[in-house]
Amino acid sequence: MSSKTQEHKSGKLVIPGERLGVIEEFIPNSGTYVKDGIIFSQVIGRALVDLISKKVSVYPLVSELIAPKISSIVIGQVGNAQSDNVLVRIFRVGSNALSGVFTGIFHISDVQERYVNSMSDVCKPGDILRAKVISNKNKVYHLSTKDSGLGVLYAFCSRCSHVLEPKRYDMRCPNCGNIERRKFALDYGKEKI
Ligand SMILES: [Zn+2]
Repeated sequence: MSSKTQEHKSGKLVIPGERLGVIEEFIPNSGTYVKDGIIFSQVIGRALVDLISKKVSVYPLVSELIAPKISSIVIGQVGNAQSDNVLVRIFRVGSNALSGVFTGIFHISDVQERYVNSMSDVCKPGDILRAKVISNKNKVYHLSTKDSGLGVLYAFCSRCSHVLEPKRYDMRCPNCGNIERRKFALDYGKEKI
């Protein structure tokens, strides 16, 4: 058994299961759990012991794994493309960069309300896309861009790879003059990636 002074671990890096104190002395707060009257850390983080309120907490060092959920707004890069669907490598959920890699599938029926002829008029491999998760059955993230805030954020010329500029309903390459089509978001080119 350690002495009471050794248990005042404010600011110390702790790991799950590390002893923080006893309930006779402290009030367990966030990031902790109690077993047999002893307070332990639940997460990897910095222990904080408030000597006035007697609360002991642990502030997580790494945020919990963020996975896309239904209706999450995600940002990803278009990968493999077919005429009626594309795969999207999701790298951000909301404002959180992801630690894991999630793959989304974006089907032609989820682009917009109006009929779309081919996915090549919507997005192309390499494009950066903002979309909404509409289903996550079996960890397959189905994406939709049925909103003016959703769609391609950055598109690249398929001839010369330069970033395309929106021009009315089409996209134009300022470098080579190539005209292409995309379903681009209203704030196209403004999102910081
Ligand atoms: Zn070009």
